[in-house]
Amino acid sequence: MRELPDGGYEVGALTTYADLIANTTLDWVREAVELIGDVQVRNRGTVGGSIAHADPAAEYPAVALAMDAEMEAISARGTRRIPAAAFFRDFWTTDLEPDELLASVRFPVWNGRCGFSVREFARRHGDFAVAGAVVAVELTGDDRIERCTISLFGLGSTPRRAPEAERAVQGHKADFSSDELGRLATSELTDVPSDVHGSARYRARVGAAMVKRAWDEAIAEACRA
Ligand SMILES: Cc1cc2nc3c(=O)[nH]c(=O)nc-3n(C[C@H](O)[C@H](O)[C@H](O)COP(=O)(O)OP(=O)(O)OC[C@H]3O[C@@H](n4cnc5c(N)ncnc54)[C@H](O)[C@@H]3O)c2cc1C
Repeated sequence: MRELPDGGYEVGALTTYADLIANTTLDWVREAVELIGDVQVRNRGTVGGSIAHADPAAEYPAVALAMDAEMEAISARGTRRIPAAAFFRDFWTTDLEPDELLASVRFPVWNGRCGFSVREFARRHGDFAVAGAVVAVELTGDDRIERCTISLFGLGSTPRRAPEAERAVQGHKADFSSDELGRLATSELTDVPSDVHGSARYRARVGAAMVKRAWDEAIAEACRA
């Protein structure tokens, strides 16, 4: 992981989760990694592998989406940057062309009074999540929401942003109801999976609870900053 001149961070695709947390002091990086698999998985699994694999229940694709990261793809034709919002196309399907490799992921800087949280529910610690949420917020000096991004994982064919919920809190005081936010964030979902781990309705309810928890934590962190 290297710091970019604009204050953002670039993570090479081959960076393992273990290397990532060994080389950063950023809480938001550590928090997501600690939820992934177990020590063995974190020693071998790479950030680029996870993002290129695009499992809709994986943590890092959702973090990349919430942070408005950009993917750098390389091929014999050259290099291009793909915003996270355009990168995840469908179940395990990305915008990468057959001749392209993911070279790195660029995370933009979030300055000021910021808070970040990832919350998920998994049947056992380290399992892929049944449902999870990432919330990033930035507060103004008088505790209003300057910026808020929310992404959901395990709740569709790709990680999903929650635009209606993000709009609802914009400019609002930081005491916006977290119950209402959880409801809003999951109200627009259209393809929540139903499987052996839970029905679509159950997953959506778990997702709403994860948004609520992540929001409360992100806001508390931002208020302390
Ligand atoms: C027991 C277990 C538990 C796990 N739990 C979790 C979890 O809780 N959360 C989570 O997020 N993940 C979890 N994982 C997945 C793990 O975190 C890895 O990130 C994931 O398996 C990718 O592994 P890898 O980095 O070795 O990539 P690979 O397995 O090598 O690659 C995955 C896919 O992406 C392609 N690919 C890899 N790198 C690139 C690249 N640079 N450019 C283009 N395509 C590329 C490969 O061709 C392949 O199709 C778990 C895995 C295991 C085995």
